[in-house]
Amino acid sequence: MPMAPATDSAPLAVCFALLGACVGSFLNLVAWRLPRRQSVILPGSHCIRCGQGLAWFDNIPLLGWLLLAGRCRYCGAGISSRYPLVELLCAGLWVLQLQTHRGSWAALLAGLLFSGQLLVLTLIDMDTMWLPEPLCRWGLLAGLLLTPILAALEGGDPLRQTMGHGFAALMGLLCLEAVSGLGQLALGVPALGLGDAKLAAMLGAWLGGRGLASAVLLAVFSAALVGVVGRLSGRLAAYQPFPFGPFLALAGMVLWCGGETLANGLLGLVLAGLI
Ligand SMILES: [Zn+2]
Repeated sequence: MPMAPATDSAPLAVCFALLGACVGSFLNLVAWRLPRRQSVILPGSHCIRCGQGLAWFDNIPLLGWLLLAGRCRYCGAGISSRYPLVELLCAGLWVLQLQTHRGSWAALLAGLLFSGQLLVLTLIDMDTMWLPEPLCRWGLLAGLLLTPILAALEGGDPLRQTMGHGFAALMGLLCLEAVSGLGQLALGVPALGLGDAKLAAMLGAWLGGRGLASAVLLAVFSAALVGVVGRLSGRLAAYQPFPFGPFLALAGMVLWCGGETLANGLLGLVLAGLI
């Protein structure tokens, strides 16, 4: 296996898109079953209304939904367009990882793992306003385990970087817990959802201090923007809560792909605005 995957290979990009769509199909299933405490392996995919198992050709990512015209073959129940959209998004994420990886297969595989974790957490938070603690914990551990490997491959100091990312994870957890507690005191309602601090800790483990700080800033800014637009357009009622996890996850992915340069640029912009 060559040391670095070729980012300009069209056949490789097509393979990544197809594999990404298949993974997206599995992540759809995980996001549906995990909050319901169901196994993600058995039983196989089935209609959630009539319980009929799906044929293998109904399970083909994107195509299956299109050929069924978004309806169950057996009972005619509608199948949410979210399923093919998530498959398409995951295909895009896989191609994005191929294009932006940091020079090694290990970094590429790490990016695929990170993007998959963030996508599942996003879907679950959108459905339930809850980020499962075990997923965040495993995500954090994966980040801390991969940090020294990537540091060694990229010519950095593995011990120093791992300690830095560990400290960032701790700060992410404590700072967001503190914001949540202060928000509760000031407003009388939770300012952040359950698990946002744990997701911030996971981002710290993957991105380090600068990456985490930039990701949180980006997430706060984009969530505030969506909140204002939602309120002005009447889609959100006053004080209506909406999940913050998807904003953190999206910002985390942007920072992972943009790397140190983007983190430094964003922090520089904020500091310039403050001075
Ligand atoms: Zn059905």
